[in-house]
Amino acid sequence: MDGKKCVCTPAMIGKVLVIIGAVNWGLVGLGGLFSGDWNVVKMILGGWPVVENIVYLLVGIAGVMMIFGCRCKACTSCQPPAAGGQAM
Ligand SMILES: [Zn+2]
Repeated sequence: MDGKKCVCTPAMIGKVLVIIGAVNWGLVGLGGLFSGDWNVVKMILGGWPVVENIVYLLVGIAGVMMIFGCRCKACTSCQPPAAGGQAM
């Protein structure tokens, strides 16, 4: 229990994207209750549907990354994969 934390750029970006996705989705739900469209991503990027969908895709990828954990060099070196299902 040394409290050592692995902070790497991919994990940090992933965390930010998941927060953006969660807050945006919350606003979509809240806006829906008040019969409005509070999708901030759509408000900002509504003019570029491709970019808007790429943002959603990135948020989804970040969410999947949160489930499996970051596998970059920095994280694998400070966090040895203890729960490896395929090993042995
Ligand atoms: Zn990492």
